[in-house]
Amino acid sequence: RAKELGGRRVEVFAAHMHADVVRRLELAADLQRALLAGQFAIEYQPVVDLATSRVTAVEALVRWWRGSTLVPPQQFLGAAEDTGLIVPLGEWILRESCREVAAWRASSWDIGLSLNLSTRQITAPRFVETVAAALAESGLPASALTLEVIEEMLVEDAEEIIGRLSELRAMGVRLAIDDFGTGYASLALLRQLPVDLIKIDPSFVCGLGRDETLTLLTRTIVRLGHDLGLMVVAEGIERPEQLELLREMGCTRGQGYLVARPMAARGVDSLMRTSLAPVPPLQNTA
Ligand code: C2E
Ligand code: MG
Ligand code: MG
Ligand code: MG
Repeated sequence: RAKELGGRRVEVFAAHMHADVVRRLELAADLQRALLAGQFAIEYQPVVDLATSRVTAVEALVRWWRGSTLVPPQQFLGAAEDTGLIVPLGEWILRESCREVAAWRASSWDIGLSLNLSTRQITAPRFVETVAAALAESGLPASALTLEVIEEMLVEDAEEIIGRLSELRAMGVRLAIDDFGTGYASLALLRQLPVDLIKIDPSFVCGLGRDETLTLLTRTIVRLGHDLGLMVVAEGIERPEQLELLREMGCTRGQGYLVARPMAARGVDSLMRTSLAPVPPLQNTA
Protein backbone atom coordinates (compact mmCIF):
# COMPACT_ATOMS: atom_id res chain seq x y z
CA ARG A 1 0.00 0.00 0.00
CA ALA A 2 2.82 2.33 0.91
CA LYS A 3 4.44 1.40 -2.36
CA GLU A 4 1.25 2.13 -4.22
CA LEU A 5 1.01 5.58 -2.62
CA GLY A 6 4.64 6.28 -3.29
CA GLY A 7 4.23 5.24 -6.89
CA ARG A 8 1.31 7.57 -7.35
CA ARG A 9 3.27 10.43 -5.84
CA VAL A 10 6.02 9.88 -8.38
CA GLU A 11 3.46 9.88 -11.16
CA VAL A 12 1.95 13.18 -10.01
CA PHE A 13 5.40 14.69 -9.77
CA ALA A 14 6.29 13.51 -13.27
CA ALA A 15 3.10 15.01 -14.68
CA HIS A 16 4.01 18.34 -13.13
CA MET A 17 7.49 18.18 -14.58
CA HIS A 18 6.08 17.33 -17.96
CA ALA A 19 3.64 20.25 -17.96
CA ASP A 20 6.46 22.56 -16.90
CA VAL A 21 8.77 21.38 -19.68
CA VAL A 22 6.01 21.75 -22.25
CA ARG A 23 5.16 25.25 -21.01
CA ARG A 24 8.81 26.29 -21.24
CA LEU A 25 9.18 24.90 -24.74
CA GLU A 26 6.03 26.71 -25.84
CA LEU A 27 7.28 29.92 -24.28
CA ALA A 28 10.62 29.54 -26.07
CA ALA A 29 8.88 29.06 -29.43
CA ASP A 30 6.56 32.01 -28.73
CA LEU A 31 9.52 34.25 -27.91
CA GLN A 32 11.26 33.33 -31.14
CA ARG A 33 8.11 34.17 -33.12
CA ALA A 34 7.59 37.36 -31.11
CA LEU A 35 11.03 38.64 -32.07
CA LEU A 36 10.40 37.97 -35.76
CA ALA A 37 6.92 39.50 -35.54
CA GLY A 38 8.19 42.66 -33.86
CA GLN A 39 6.14 42.14 -30.70
CA PHE A 40 8.82 43.52 -28.39
CA ALA A 41 8.82 47.14 -27.43
CA ILE A 42 10.94 49.38 -25.26
CA GLU A 43 9.66 51.62 -22.50
CA TYR A 44 11.83 54.29 -20.98
CA GLN A 45 11.77 55.29 -17.34
CA PRO A 46 13.19 58.74 -16.58
CA VAL A 47 15.98 59.08 -14.02
CA VAL A 48 15.85 62.54 -12.48
CA ASP A 49 18.01 64.92 -10.55
CA LEU A 50 16.22 64.89 -7.18
CA ALA A 51 16.93 68.54 -6.46
CA THR A 52 15.66 69.99 -9.76
CA SER A 53 13.49 67.16 -11.19
CA ARG A 54 15.46 67.54 -14.41
CA VAL A 55 15.61 64.29 -16.44
CA THR A 56 19.24 63.18 -16.64
CA ALA A 57 18.77 59.77 -18.27
CA VAL A 58 16.24 57.17 -19.30
CA GLU A 59 16.41 53.47 -18.45
CA ALA A 60 15.32 51.16 -21.28
CA LEU A 61 12.94 48.41 -20.12
CA VAL A 62 11.85 45.67 -22.49
CA ARG A 63 8.16 44.90 -23.00
CA TRP A 64 6.42 42.03 -24.76
CA TRP A 65 3.07 42.77 -26.38
CA ARG A 66 1.61 39.28 -26.74
CA GLY A 67 -1.54 40.15 -28.67
CA SER A 68 -3.06 42.87 -26.54
CA THR A 69 -1.57 41.65 -23.25
CA LEU A 70 1.59 43.09 -21.85
CA VAL A 71 3.87 40.37 -20.47
CA PRO A 72 6.23 41.68 -17.75
CA PRO A 73 9.95 41.03 -18.32
CA GLN A 74 10.28 38.82 -15.22
CA GLN A 75 7.93 36.33 -16.95
CA PHE A 76 10.02 35.86 -20.08
CA LEU A 77 13.58 36.97 -19.42
CA GLY A 78 14.44 33.63 -17.76
CA ALA A 79 13.29 31.70 -20.83
CA ALA A 80 15.01 34.20 -23.14
CA GLU A 81 18.23 33.60 -21.22
CA ASP A 82 17.89 29.79 -21.21
CA THR A 83 17.19 29.61 -24.94
CA GLY A 84 19.83 32.19 -25.86
CA LEU A 85 17.16 34.40 -27.44
CA ILE A 86 18.28 37.17 -25.08
CA VAL A 87 21.29 37.66 -27.38
CA PRO A 88 19.38 38.79 -30.52
CA LEU A 89 16.69 40.42 -28.35
CA GLY A 90 19.29 42.29 -26.30
CA GLU A 91 21.04 43.43 -29.45
CA TRP A 92 17.75 44.79 -30.81
CA ILE A 93 17.12 46.65 -27.54
CA LEU A 94 20.66 48.05 -27.62
CA ARG A 95 20.46 49.35 -31.21
CA GLU A 96 16.91 50.64 -30.95
CA SER A 97 17.44 52.49 -27.65
CA CYS A 98 20.79 53.98 -28.75
CA ARG A 99 19.08 55.26 -31.90
CA GLU A 100 16.14 56.76 -30.00
CA VAL A 101 18.24 58.40 -27.31
CA ALA A 102 20.68 59.77 -29.91
CA ALA A 103 17.68 61.38 -31.69
CA TRP A 104 16.53 63.02 -28.44
CA ARG A 105 20.04 64.29 -27.83
CA ALA A 106 20.12 65.71 -31.35
CA SER A 107 17.24 67.99 -30.25
CA SER A 108 19.63 69.50 -27.67
CA TRP A 109 18.26 67.40 -24.83
CA ASP A 110 21.21 66.34 -22.72
CA ILE A 111 20.16 62.88 -21.53
CA GLY A 112 21.89 59.54 -21.08
CA LEU A 113 20.73 55.96 -21.67
CA SER A 114 20.81 53.16 -19.12
CA LEU A 115 20.57 49.56 -20.31
CA ASN A 116 20.09 46.30 -18.41
CA LEU A 117 22.29 43.40 -19.42
CA SER A 118 22.16 39.70 -18.76
CA THR A 119 25.08 37.30 -18.41
CA ARG A 120 24.40 35.49 -21.64
CA GLN A 121 24.62 38.76 -23.58
CA ILE A 122 27.94 39.80 -22.11
CA THR A 123 29.57 36.43 -22.69
CA ALA A 124 28.21 36.12 -26.25
CA PRO A 125 30.85 36.34 -29.00
CA ARG A 126 31.65 39.89 -30.08
CA PHE A 127 29.68 41.60 -27.30
CA VAL A 128 32.14 44.47 -27.03
CA GLU A 129 32.11 44.96 -30.80
CA THR A 130 28.29 44.90 -30.84
CA VAL A 131 28.09 47.72 -28.29
CA ALA A 132 30.76 49.70 -30.14
CA ALA A 133 28.83 49.26 -33.41
CA ALA A 134 25.54 50.40 -31.83
CA LEU A 135 27.28 53.54 -30.57
CA ALA A 136 28.95 54.24 -33.91
CA GLU A 137 25.76 53.70 -35.94
CA SER A 138 23.58 55.84 -33.70
CA GLY A 139 26.16 58.51 -32.98
CA LEU A 140 25.47 58.18 -29.26
CA PRO A 141 28.65 59.11 -27.37
CA ALA A 142 30.02 56.30 -25.20
CA SER A 143 29.84 58.56 -22.16
CA ALA A 144 26.04 58.82 -22.60
CA LEU A 145 25.61 55.04 -22.21
CA THR A 146 25.41 53.27 -18.85
CA LEU A 147 25.36 49.48 -18.70
CA GLU A 148 23.64 48.00 -15.64
CA VAL A 149 24.68 44.67 -14.19
CA ILE A 150 23.63 42.82 -11.06
CA GLU A 151 26.02 41.11 -8.72
CA GLU A 152 24.64 37.60 -9.36
CA MET A 153 26.11 37.87 -12.84
CA LEU A 154 29.60 37.75 -11.53
CA VAL A 155 29.21 34.41 -9.80
CA GLU A 156 29.97 32.47 -12.98
CA ASP A 157 32.40 33.53 -15.72
CA ALA A 158 33.38 36.46 -13.50
CA GLU A 159 36.76 36.94 -15.14
CA GLU A 160 35.37 37.06 -18.67
CA ILE A 161 32.52 39.38 -17.69
CA ILE A 162 34.75 41.77 -15.76
CA GLY A 163 37.23 41.78 -18.65
CA ARG A 164 34.61 42.67 -21.25
CA LEU A 165 32.91 45.31 -19.11
CA SER A 166 36.28 46.86 -18.31
CA GLU A 167 37.06 47.03 -22.01
CA LEU A 168 33.82 48.94 -22.61
CA ARG A 169 34.53 51.24 -19.70
CA ALA A 170 37.93 52.03 -21.20
CA MET A 171 36.00 53.19 -24.28
CA GLY A 172 34.10 55.65 -22.09
CA VAL A 173 30.92 53.63 -21.38
CA ARG A 174 29.73 53.88 -17.77
CA LEU A 175 28.97 50.89 -15.57
CA ALA A 176 26.35 50.54 -12.86
CA ILE A 177 25.50 47.96 -10.24
CA ASP A 178 21.72 47.51 -10.29
CA ASP A 179 19.73 46.28 -7.26
CA PHE A 180 22.67 47.24 -5.07
CA GLY A 181 22.66 45.68 -1.62
CA THR A 182 20.48 42.68 -2.37
CA GLY A 183 23.12 40.07 -3.22
CA TYR A 184 25.98 38.55 -1.34
CA ALA A 185 28.78 40.31 -3.10
CA SER A 186 27.91 44.02 -3.23
CA LEU A 187 30.97 45.24 -1.40
CA ALA A 188 33.41 42.74 -2.88
CA LEU A 189 32.12 43.59 -6.32
CA LEU A 190 33.05 47.23 -5.89
CA ARG A 191 36.66 46.08 -5.66
CA GLN A 192 36.54 43.74 -8.65
CA LEU A 193 34.65 45.82 -11.14
CA PRO A 194 35.32 49.49 -11.86
CA VAL A 195 31.85 51.05 -11.69
CA ASP A 196 30.60 54.62 -11.91
CA LEU A 197 27.22 54.26 -10.32
CA ILE A 198 25.16 52.20 -7.89
CA LYS A 199 21.40 51.86 -7.91
CA ILE A 200 19.86 51.38 -4.48
CA ASP A 201 17.33 48.58 -4.59
CA PRO A 202 13.65 49.41 -3.97
CA SER A 203 13.64 46.97 -1.03
CA PHE A 204 15.64 49.61 0.90
CA VAL A 205 13.91 52.66 -0.52
CA CYS A 206 10.42 51.27 0.28
CA GLY A 207 11.22 51.36 3.99
CA LEU A 208 12.32 54.99 4.08
CA GLY A 209 10.60 56.78 6.93
CA ARG A 210 8.71 53.63 7.93
CA ASP A 211 11.44 51.27 8.99
CA GLU A 212 14.38 52.45 11.04
CA THR A 213 16.82 49.79 9.85
CA LEU A 214 16.01 50.27 6.17
CA THR A 215 16.29 54.04 6.55
CA LEU A 216 19.68 53.66 8.21
CA LEU A 217 20.86 51.19 5.55
CA THR A 218 19.80 53.55 2.76
CA ARG A 219 21.66 56.40 4.41
CA THR A 220 24.72 54.14 4.73
CA ILE A 221 24.62 53.11 1.06
CA VAL A 222 24.30 56.74 -0.07
CA ARG A 223 27.31 57.70 2.05
CA LEU A 224 29.32 54.67 0.95
CA GLY A 225 28.66 55.49 -2.70
CA HIS A 226 29.67 59.09 -2.30
CA ASP A 227 32.78 58.22 -0.28
CA LEU A 228 33.83 55.99 -3.16
CA GLY A 229 33.18 58.79 -5.64
CA LEU A 230 30.22 57.03 -7.24
CA MET A 231 26.92 58.40 -8.47
CA VAL A 232 24.02 57.02 -6.42
CA VAL A 233 20.54 56.47 -7.88
CA ALA A 234 17.61 55.52 -5.63
CA GLU A 235 15.06 53.22 -7.28
CA GLY A 236 11.38 52.70 -6.50
CA ILE A 237 10.47 56.14 -5.14
CA GLU A 238 6.70 56.06 -4.67
CA ARG A 239 5.97 58.41 -1.72
CA PRO A 240 6.86 62.09 -1.17
CA GLU A 241 8.35 61.18 2.21
CA GLN A 242 10.94 58.95 0.51
CA LEU A 243 11.88 61.77 -1.82
CA GLU A 244 12.35 64.18 1.09
CA LEU A 245 14.52 61.76 3.04
CA LEU A 246 16.66 60.93 0.01
CA ARG A 247 17.26 64.61 -0.66
CA GLU A 248 18.15 65.15 2.97
CA MET A 249 20.60 62.20 2.78
CA GLY A 250 22.29 63.86 -0.18
CA CYS A 251 21.16 61.30 -2.75
CA THR A 252 21.13 63.22 -6.02
CA ARG A 253 19.39 60.92 -8.50
CA GLY A 254 16.17 58.94 -8.38
CA GLN A 255 13.70 56.83 -10.25
CA GLY A 256 10.21 55.71 -9.33
CA TYR A 257 6.50 55.91 -9.99
CA LEU A 258 6.25 59.16 -7.99
CA VAL A 259 8.68 60.84 -10.35
CA ALA A 260 7.78 59.14 -13.63
CA ARG A 261 6.58 55.73 -14.78
CA PRO A 262 8.20 53.82 -17.61
CA MET A 263 6.69 55.16 -20.86
CA ALA A 264 6.73 54.54 -24.61
CA ALA A 265 9.02 56.66 -26.80
CA ARG A 266 6.09 58.96 -27.62
CA GLY A 267 5.76 59.77 -23.92
CA VAL A 268 9.44 60.65 -23.78
CA ASP A 269 8.93 62.92 -26.82
CA SER A 270 6.36 64.99 -24.96
CA LEU A 271 8.48 64.98 -21.81
CA MET A 272 11.29 66.39 -23.92
CA ARG A 273 9.09 69.14 -25.33
CA THR A 274 8.10 70.16 -21.78
CA SER A 275 11.70 70.01 -20.59
CA LEU A 276 13.04 72.08 -23.47
CA ALA A 277 10.16 74.58 -23.59
CA PRO A 278 11.30 78.06 -22.65
CA VAL A 279 9.81 79.31 -19.40
CA PRO A 280 6.90 81.56 -20.51
CA PRO A 281 7.31 85.23 -19.75
CA LEU A 282 5.34 86.33 -16.68
CA GLN A 283 3.12 88.89 -18.47
CA ASN A 284 1.63 86.10 -20.63
CA THR A 285 0.25 84.14 -17.69
CA ALA A 286 -2.57 86.56 -16.85
P1 C2E B 1 15.42 46.83 -12.91
O1 C2E B 1 16.46 47.07 -13.92
O2 C2E B 1 15.79 46.94 -11.49
O3 C2E B 1 14.25 47.84 -13.32
C1 C2E B 1 13.41 48.50 -12.41
C2 C2E B 1 12.04 47.86 -12.35
O4 C2E B 1 11.26 48.52 -11.36
C3 C2E B 1 11.24 48.00 -13.64
O5 C2E B 1 10.41 46.85 -13.73
C4 C2E B 1 10.39 49.24 -13.37
O6 C2E B 1 9.22 49.29 -14.16
C5 C2E B 1 10.07 49.05 -11.92
N1 C2E B 1 9.79 50.29 -11.20
C6 C2E B 1 10.20 51.53 -11.49
N2 C2E B 1 9.77 52.43 -10.58
C7 C2E B 1 9.05 51.73 -9.67
C8 C2E B 1 8.32 52.09 -8.47
O7 C2E B 1 8.27 53.23 -8.07
N3 C2E B 1 7.72 51.07 -7.80
C9 C2E B 1 7.76 49.77 -8.24
N4 C2E B 1 7.13 48.86 -7.52
N5 C2E B 1 8.44 49.40 -9.36
C10 C2E B 1 9.07 50.36 -10.07
P2 C2E B 1 10.30 46.00 -15.07
O8 C2E B 1 10.25 46.91 -16.25
O9 C2E B 1 9.18 45.04 -14.86
O10 C2E B 1 11.67 45.23 -15.15
C11 C2E B 1 12.02 44.26 -14.22
C12 C2E B 1 13.45 43.81 -14.39
O11 C2E B 1 13.61 43.11 -15.64
C13 C2E B 1 14.45 44.95 -14.44
O12 C2E B 1 14.76 45.37 -13.13
C14 C2E B 1 15.62 44.29 -15.13
O13 C2E B 1 16.38 43.53 -14.23
C15 C2E B 1 14.92 43.35 -16.10
N6 C2E B 1 14.90 43.96 -17.43
C16 C2E B 1 14.03 44.90 -17.92
N7 C2E B 1 14.34 45.22 -19.19
C17 C2E B 1 15.44 44.49 -19.53
C18 C2E B 1 16.24 44.38 -20.72
O14 C2E B 1 16.04 45.07 -21.73
N8 C2E B 1 17.28 43.48 -20.69
C19 C2E B 1 17.55 42.74 -19.59
N9 C2E B 1 18.59 41.89 -19.65
N10 C2E B 1 16.83 42.82 -18.45
C20 C2E B 1 15.78 43.69 -18.41
MG1 MG C 1 17.93 48.35 -14.15
MG1 MG D 1 16.91 47.65 -9.92
MG1 MG E 1 15.81 44.17 -10.78
